[in-house]
Amino acid sequence: MALRLYNTLSGKVEDFHPLDGNRVRMYACGPTVYDYGHIGNFRTFVAIDLLYRFLRQNGYDVRYVMNITDVDDKIIRNSKHDGATVQQYTAKFIQAFLEDSATLSIEPPVLVRATEHINAMADFIGELAKKGFAYRTDDGSYYFRIAKFPEYGKLSKKDFAGMTDGARVDVDEYDKDNARDFALWKAPKPGEASWDTAIGPGRPGWHIECSVMSMEQLGPSFDLHAGGEDLIFPHHENEIAQSESLSGKQFVRYWFHARFLLVEGQKMSKSLGNFFTIRDLVLRGHKPSSIRWLLTQVPYRNQLNFTFDGLKSAASSVEKLRNFRFRLTSAQFPTGANSHMTQLADETLVQMKSALDDDLNTAEAQAAIFDMLRKANTALDSGEVRQDDVKPLLAALEKFDEIFGVLKDDDQPKMKAILDWARTEGREKEISPELTEIAGSAHLADEDVNQHVALMQAARNARKFSESDAIRAALTAAGIIVENTKDGVRWRRK
Ligand code: AMP
Ligand code: ZN
Repeated sequence: MALRLYNTLSGKVEDFHPLDGNRVRMYACGPTVYDYGHIGNFRTFVAIDLLYRFLRQNGYDVRYVMNITDVDDKIIRNSKHDGATVQQYTAKFIQAFLEDSATLSIEPPVLVRATEHINAMADFIGELAKKGFAYRTDDGSYYFRIAKFPEYGKLSKKDFAGMTDGARVDVDEYDKDNARDFALWKAPKPGEASWDTAIGPGRPGWHIECSVMSMEQLGPSFDLHAGGEDLIFPHHENEIAQSESLSGKQFVRYWFHARFLLVEGQKMSKSLGNFFTIRDLVLRGHKPSSIRWLLTQVPYRNQLNFTFDGLKSAASSVEKLRNFRFRLTSAQFPTGANSHMTQLADETLVQMKSALDDDLNTAEAQAAIFDMLRKANTALDSGEVRQDDVKPLLAALEKFDEIFGVLKDDDQPKMKAILDWARTEGREKEISPELTEIAGSAHLADEDVNQHVALMQAARNARKFSESDAIRAALTAAGIIVENTKDGVRWRRK
């Protein structure tokens, strides 16, 4: 089966076929860098990361571009408030976005920045004006003339037929009741950043940047455009209007939108006190791998309800996967093969692929791998796993992890980096004892534990019991429980 994706434009799940053979060109609306990214933003970015990883796993050659909105109404307002330039203000949050993405093991896209494309935006607007799709107002601003683009509303499925021609809206974000001719270019205001360009001084509206940067990077027509569901209107509707008016071609073939995340059943908001950045969660002692896992658990079009209980159970799921791999790689097995195990691994691969092919059904892919874990663990307990079974079982696990990205135990250094950041930012009070414990030297990564366990075994075999006891005691102190089983020595975390 081939990949099938829900396309917001058609309102249907469709077979995915890129325009140009094996090449996929994909664009995602990235962060507006006026603050630290929150878990809602990262729900969307992780969903797009899974799509990117799965396309590549299927052999596509993917060019994945993401923009950074480093100028918009909020940034202008905040930088003005801080007496900083737009560049000074956003630098810190761009850096934070890169760090947080790496913390969540997001594969890096090609990143492009709005402020590096201002002249290209002005030229694009100039062309739209020449074709009659844009007009200039007395103050030197430019607006898109919606009446010239009858297909306006085709993405959001809204009917704008009765709208007054020439009524305008200035703010970057608005709802459908405000749908009017939208600002492409805003004339300079005192104390606000502005640029001198071919269409005069000013600054771009928010929507024009994505049309300009996506088309520059990927051409006038490309395969996939992604973002959170809030962007369908007005942002993506406006992108389509701008781009198709200029090129006369279909802008994007598949529109991919992730559903908004809730926190403990409610919309996330600062006033409700349920607003969390990635850093907030790590400061409370939660591991990046647990956060990533939680964000992948619910298929991207379903409502994901973020809860702290869910985060705990995510941590235990990740631990089970890591322990299973350790078990397979550390125990001794009798020679030969158990055909049930090879068959189990093969079936799991098929189930995972068909789950993800089905509009990225992550929940089903995870169910398939845990089914394999359950059956293989039972076989391991009863000594039914043979040497030749290890490779196919591990291969299925690795294939799963190419998409989900949680097996590598690098939580500790990532958490340590956030602890150090909190100290330099004067946020010591928010550092939990749990974070201090994990980020501190007492916490050992899987590889370190494996090394210690091997040393402990070697000491025991050499009958140096006090040495092996000392290593065991050190491991216990670091929260590692070592058990002797008939498969050999095994360990788990407390
Ligand atoms: P912003 O930084 O506000 O421009 O948003 C960056 C991305 O995060 C966009 O694709 C938004 O649609 C998405 N986003 C914002 N809030 C949420 C949320 N609560 N759940 C899911 N995605 C979100
Ligand atoms: Zn955008």
